[in-house]
Amino acid sequence: MPDISFEGITYDCAADETVLDSLTRHGVLLPSGCRSGSCHACKVKAIKGKPPVASQAGLREPLKEQNYFLACMCKPDEALEIALADASDKYSATVIEKSWLNDTVVRIRLTRPEGFNYRAGQFINLLRTSDQLARSYSLASIEGDDFLEVHIKRVPEGRMSNWLCDELQQDQEISFFGPSGSCFYVQGKAEQPLLLAGTGTGLAPLYGIARDAIRAGHTGPIQLFHASHGAEGLYYSSELEQLAAAHAQLTCTACVLQGDIPEGALSGAVDAAVVNRLGDLAGYRVFLCGDAPVVELMQRSFFFAGASMQDIYADAFSFTPAG
Ligand SMILES: Cc1cc2nc3c(=O)[nH]c(=O)nc-3n(C[C@H](O)[C@H](O)[C@H](O)COP(=O)(O)OP(=O)(O)OC[C@H]3O[C@@H](n4cnc5c(N)ncnc54)[C@H](O)[C@@H]3O)c2cc1C
Repeated sequence: MPDISFEGITYDCAADETVLDSLTRHGVLLPSGCRSGSCHACKVKAIKGKPPVASQAGLREPLKEQNYFLACMCKPDEALEIALADASDKYSATVIEKSWLNDTVVRIRLTRPEGFNYRAGQFINLLRTSDQLARSYSLASIEGDDFLEVHIKRVPEGRMSNWLCDELQQDQEISFFGPSGSCFYVQGKAEQPLLLAGTGTGLAPLYGIARDAIRAGHTGPIQLFHASHGAEGLYYSSELEQLAAAHAQLTCTACVLQGDIPEGALSGAVDAAVVNRLGDLAGYRVFLCGDAPVVELMQRSFFFAGASMQDIYADAFSFTPAG
């Protein structure tokens, strides 16, 4: 059983146990979020020993070379001495506004810390410092905004989402890491048609990406679809209407799976509804965000409808099942 040394103390790591699980078992709190390698909140550095290759998947090359790895993905095969990742991507911000967008989604606006640069559509990891709980939230704001904006959906029994919805107060400070993610608009091919589709709070990054593309001078058609299980899950309808009214190339369409269908909205599964509406997707650049199973479904359907895999950018809001 390889040992893990952290801040001068050595801990045992059971066979098949990750570094994160071992430290948690010993009462050591590291920042952590998804526990599946996607949010990078538990990134640490090996000062001695070599982390397994699998624990470095998704990290940029310079970080790999410096022996950074993800504690949640690391089942060590040799003793490791580790340190917290240097805090150069950790920021502190103040809550400047909290407002409800529908019954379950709250918008939080934060001050934008000096030196924090990001691309619209990327996500940050908000940190509850009392227990180092971290969760990823996508940015709905764009570089030109003087605030950061996130949309939080309340998850039943959810530790972070309920804390953010109910306890985090205006004027309170909150820490975050980031930015992360590669689901954002890159300038070039200004005439290429764009397809943005998301479920629930998947609208947050898409709203940012649409505004960013327009600001960058994108001239091709931009089709944004906001999907929800029921009409009550939709939000930002008037903001989307206003944005579309101001920019002729943008079309925003809601899509509802069940129940009452608002005027102008599509009904049924979003992947089929989009393909029905747009037909051949060859040549589209596609951005997909929100519930992981729906994002995966859309990825497949849009690929089969002609979109190239290389032109599909996705952020699935994956989470760790309880238990
Ligand atoms: C890249 C990325 C971007 C994200 N962006 C956003 C965003 O912009 N807005 C947003 O609201 N969320 C976003 N999420 C999801 C977010 O990070 C959290 O997973 C979510 O808020 C739940 O955290 P929690 O601590 O409240 O729930 P937990 O305490 O982790 O979970 C409580 C219980 O609910 C279950 N659960 C957790 N999430 C869900 C879910 N979505 N559906 C059903 N059951 C669930 C868990 O399995 C567990 O049983 C994103 C996730 C990722 C990976």
